[in-house]
Amino acid sequence: MRSKNRLPLAFDRLKKMIIDQGFCTLCGACEAACPVRAIKIVEEKPQCIYDCAKYLDHCSICYDVCPHTEALLIETPNLGCYRKILLAQAVERGMKVGPGGGVVTALLTHALEKDIIDSAVFSEAKAGVPMELKPLVSSVQDDLLSAVEIHFFPSAVAKAFRSAVLEHRKQRIAFVGIPCHVLALRKLEVWQHKLAENLKIVIGLFCLWSFSSSKLLRYLSRNYGIKPSEVQRIALTTEYLIHTKKGITSIPLQEIKSNVLNRCRTCMDFSSELADISVGGANPLKNWSTVIIRSKTGEDFFNDAVKHKAIRTKNIDEEPDVFLQITKMATNKKRTALREAKKRKRLSKPIPPAIESFVDDRTT
Ligand SMILES: Cc1cc2nc3c(=O)[nH]c(=O)nc-3n(C[C@H](O)[C@H](O)[C@H](O)COP(=O)(O)OP(=O)(O)OC[C@H]3O[C@@H](n4cnc5c(N)ncnc54)[C@H](O)[C@@H]3O)c2cc1C
Repeated sequence: MRSKNRLPLAFDRLKKMIIDQGFCTLCGACEAACPVRAIKIVEEKPQCIYDCAKYLDHCSICYDVCPHTEALLIETPNLGCYRKILLAQAVERGMKVGPGGGVVTALLTHALEKDIIDSAVFSEAKAGVPMELKPLVSSVQDDLLSAVEIHFFPSAVAKAFRSAVLEHRKQRIAFVGIPCHVLALRKLEVWQHKLAENLKIVIGLFCLWSFSSSKLLRYLSRNYGIKPSEVQRIALTTEYLIHTKKGITSIPLQEIKSNVLNRCRTCMDFSSELADISVGGANPLKNWSTVIIRSKTGEDFFNDAVKHKAIRTKNIDEEPDVFLQITKMATNKKRTALREAKKRKRLSKPIPPAIESFVDDRTT
């Protein structure tokens, strides 16, 4: 039992405001940051596995580092702040799988080769289970190459970042994640958490949303007769493509949307606005990625890969449709999120604290 004179611990608040409302995206930041290892993700939920109040007088870190609690930035342009936007692709073909340019893999491989980083934290699907991800800590090119695929499911990368520092003893880590992962890492930095000292670079991915794998599997089974064991791969073009042994089933974005994680519906960040470098698709171009360079760290990191011919680039002005498309995606994501949040508020439904100030200040 907690003694009565103690302030309520942050986990209670995190549970009430985020976890119990279905806003958690399972990044593992709360587990990573907890100084007494009291939090663990069990069965798709962060749980407090013992009474941390026995060891801490007052600690708010699990609540503070959660990407869905209060926002770090209030007002940003639709694509966030940046120095440069361009198109890029890996020079080595082996890094390109699907419609992307393999830029993330080429950047990481180059930085490892040149000893700019000593490891990378990224995600790949569990063997034979394309809808379940495992975060990895690795310094090996083969691991990076086997992860060259986009998986639209949650991954506890922030938790893997902790193990990169504390178990693998890595000191110059490149971190790859979607916008909520990036935000969790930036919140660790703002908190001046010791782990953040070992963060060399943050590569953010564009992200419209992630799926709940259990929900999506049920949906595919019910509406398309696709059994969970039959799904081999999911790809995104202008539609979602579900690959099975029997063939490919296309599902329009709007239709599949009912299976996304609850929190993604009110997320306003499409392009990982707080990353050093953001990378996303370059629709309608194939085998190219859009790259947004945001910080000096990101610029130096990227330019080194270009200088050593790991990556080739193209001016985005040559492809006005690409720029138009990503601006449209980013604008729509913000607009839709805001609309959804306002609707929830009107209906007295909970909204994540991360979007609270936007709902109060703006009109649609
Ligand atoms: C959930 C999700 C939604 C996305 N939605 C869009 C979108 O709507 N529009 C768009 O343009 N781009 C989207 N992307 C990004 C895009 O698909 C590519 O990630 C990006 O273009 C980089 O491609 P690349 O070929 O340069 O990267 P690659 O060299 O292929 O590297 C991809 C990297 O992403 C990592 N990764 C894969 N899945 C995850 C995951 N779930 N969480 C964290 N890391 C992961 C891999 O470990 C790998 O390091 C999304 C990505 C994800 C993960």
